[in-house]
Amino acid sequence: MPELPEVETTVNDLKPQLTGLRISSVEVLAPRTIETPSVEEFICCLTGRRIDKISRRGKHLVFSLDNSQILIVHLRMTGSLLIKKSSDLPEKFVRVILRFENGAALHFRDVRRFGRMWLVDNQDAVVGELGPEPLSDEFTPAVLAAILKDRQTPIKGLLLDQKLIAGIGNMYADEALHQARLHPLRPASSLKIKEIAALHEAIRIVLNKGIRNKGASTDTYFRPSGSKGAAHLEFQVAHRKGEECPACRGIIERITVQQRGTFYCPLCQKRPTE
Ligand SMILES: [Zn+2]
Repeated sequence: MPELPEVETTVNDLKPQLTGLRISSVEVLAPRTIETPSVEEFICCLTGRRIDKISRRGKHLVFSLDNSQILIVHLRMTGSLLIKKSSDLPEKFVRVILRFENGAALHFRDVRRFGRMWLVDNQDAVVGELGPEPLSDEFTPAVLAAILKDRQTPIKGLLLDQKLIAGIGNMYADEALHQARLHPLRPASSLKIKEIAALHEAIRIVLNKGIRNKGASTDTYFRPSGSKGAAHLEFQVAHRKGEECPACRGIIERITVQQRGTFYCPLCQKRPTE
């Protein structure tokens, strides 16, 4: 599932290809992909617009248009944005196509159809309630400490809550907890100051490493060129059940935390006995 590093990679790859281009036509093959406005209005309002800027907020891609409207895309479980030619026919799972004046096209491929698009006047309508960006200066160990304080939720579940911290999903939460040597079921409020500092550093390390490796292609994620990312090749625990922990040679286990498959090393992520 695409998380911050996969979305950041997609933004970085799309920027040089699409910034400054005008959209010449819009084709919606799966109407429910468009969250707002109506499909007719979406097509009508987007056609003729120029993409001025492409950025990321949490797991959302944000396309700023020349009429100050904003196109927001969430890849959800299985979405990818692929650069094609205007003349390329869509593959089976393509849900929306944007074609550009220079002959390029952007295909939104989404196997499970959970991905969504919004065309809005104000991006806060979609991303206004997200928590801080974990790679921003605003996200300090003190900010993380304030988020954890008084919350009994297992730390793994808390890391997934987009309203508390934006952009971390299942894979990078597991990686960060392993990097910080914290058991995923630890109640958030039980973390000591040193552990919070370690988790803060770990979050940044695993996300930056994910970006450097151009995202993780564990499932259906592809970069806009159609190539895969390599981040999953360096995962320490995520999706590695039964394999040896690279840090201590323990055997990685999979448990369920808040309905999410969770990978951890029982030797270096011990659950403290209360
Ligand atoms: Zn280990």
